[in-house]
Amino acid sequence: ATPLVMIAAIARAARTGILIKGGLYLELLAKADAVVFDKTGTLTANKPEVVRVQSFDPVVGEEELLRLAASADRRSAHPLAKAVVQGAASRGINVPEPASFEQLQARGVKATVEGRAVLVGNPALLTEAGVAVDRRPEDVGRTPVHVAIDGTLAGIIYISDTLRPGAREAITALKESGVKRIVMLTGDNAATAKAIAADLGVDEIKADLMPADKVAAIAELQKKGLKVAMVGDGVNDAPALARAEVGIAMGGGGTQAALEAADIALMTDDLGKIVAARNIARRSYRTIQ
Ligand code: ADP
Ligand code: MG
Repeated sequence: ATPLVMIAAIARAARTGILIKGGLYLELLAKADAVVFDKTGTLTANKPEVVRVQSFDPVVGEEELLRLAASADRRSAHPLAKAVVQGAASRGINVPEPASFEQLQARGVKATVEGRAVLVGNPALLTEAGVAVDRRPEDVGRTPVHVAIDGTLAGIIYISDTLRPGAREAITALKESGVKRIVMLTGDNAATAKAIAADLGVDEIKADLMPADKVAAIAELQKKGLKVAMVGDGVNDAPALARAEVGIAMGGGGTQAALEAADIALMTDDLGKIVAARNIARRSYRTIQ
């Protein structure tokens, strides 16, 4: 049976917006010695915004590029997709409904807009569709969203993907609580990931990952004998949340899949809640020792 002290701890956590699905997870969170964070939507996505639209096609132009990309991204729940749609709206661009739409996991979207084939996402998405990605993003530190129209790379939309407030403080506090290793995993590119994580106190960054690669990265830490807590927003990281000893889902912008895959769910997107959960877990676990 779950010791009374743990039930009390779960109740206390719940009152502060931290839902823990059982006493076992309190123990595992108390014992975790590696904390793995997803980047987009977890450490970042503090209001991502389109900061620049670069068109490689003089016929298409910047506004038209953004209009087609926003149309393709209209039905996507990805935080970057929302930024693209918002970017078009704030520029007063009228965004049509796409004729067809498909979300390709961790890569982007594929849509038909006004008879044109539109791809919006990472370089892998374009390359796999046979589109040559022969230009590198100019603005390092921005998240590049590549746009292809009718089989050619038409431009790049740059999105400011800034850290959530309290990200650095949360990582420092986790280390003070005995976490040995902090890792950031991302489907984004390495240059952007490094720029965003500078001064964050992250020990390791792995970029250009697919959902299965995130699972493999966690398995690798576990093989080294580390007990892993994974924090994600669930857009592409539900399998990783399930693989870790403790999966923690962000609230607010988090998805249903994340809430289901997670052992601990935060009701808000406040990274400080992870530190609070860890402290509650350690205190209650120490009491029963
Ligand atoms: P992270 O692992 O950091 O949470 P994701 O795996 O969710 O990042 O996204 C990785 C990359 O996929 C983004 O940098 C972006 O280029 C691309 N991407 C995925 N879905 C979309 C979308 N709907 N719209 C635009 N870009 C997308
Ligand atoms: Mg994410």
